[in-house]
Amino acid sequence: MGMLDTAWAVRWVRATAATVAEHRAELVTLDREIGDGDHGENLDRGFRAVVESVDADEDSLTTPADVLKLVATKLISTVGGASGPLFGTAYLKASQAVGGRDALDPEAVVALLAAARDGIVMRGKAQPGDKTMVDAWTPAVDAAGEASAAGASVVAVLEAAASAAQAGAEATDPLVAHKGRASYLGERAIGHRDPGAQSTAYILRAAADAAADAA
Ligand code: ADP
Ligand code: MG
Repeated sequence: MGMLDTAWAVRWVRATAATVAEHRAELVTLDREIGDGDHGENLDRGFRAVVESVDADEDSLTTPADVLKLVATKLISTVGGASGPLFGTAYLKASQAVGGRDALDPEAVVALLAAARDGIVMRGKAQPGDKTMVDAWTPAVDAAGEASAAGASVVAVLEAAASAAQAGAEATDPLVAHKGRASYLGERAIGHRDPGAQSTAYILRAAADAAADAA
């Protein structure tokens, strides 16, 4: 009991596609303000492709790692831009971190999230405070680790991660960007939320909701 299985990973993917579709226009608007306006479309296209693949091939997905690997492959081939390779690397590293396991305990969930964040940092070289998706991932990993160390359930670990990611996304509002397109704007980026940090918060909220659905 208290573990996250392959069905959770599939629910996470479907819930992510749903929330990205629901927030597509908002993510486009955020990216129009400090980027080129395609972030919502990029992610929506990517997660639609992921769900199509899951629908076509669900029987072949036997571990959470299989699901995460499929997400990585589809995002890398369909999303493009900066965020495609970044999220693709995140899911690929997450998949490798939990490879071989049928079900994930709280520590494995933390390892999954930490590997995702580390993959993004390895690929994009952004540090916390650079006004990127790293500003949502990093507090999420920290909060998940603290919750797990305190004996929290998998659901509570993901709840902690999701809440911290949303707070981290909101904390990008006053920042100047040091990576990505928004870095060309200098102080004009102040007052606008980073789109990739906000989409990260939606993705992690979907993970927590998908876990709560099984509990
Ligand atoms: P593009 O910037 O190529 O149009 P998207 O609009 O899909 O790509 O994604 C933009 C998001 O990518 C930003 O909001 C930011 O969160 C993230 N991003 C951009 N560059 C980096 C980087 N070097 N490291 C981490 N995240 C980054
Ligand atoms: Mg963009």
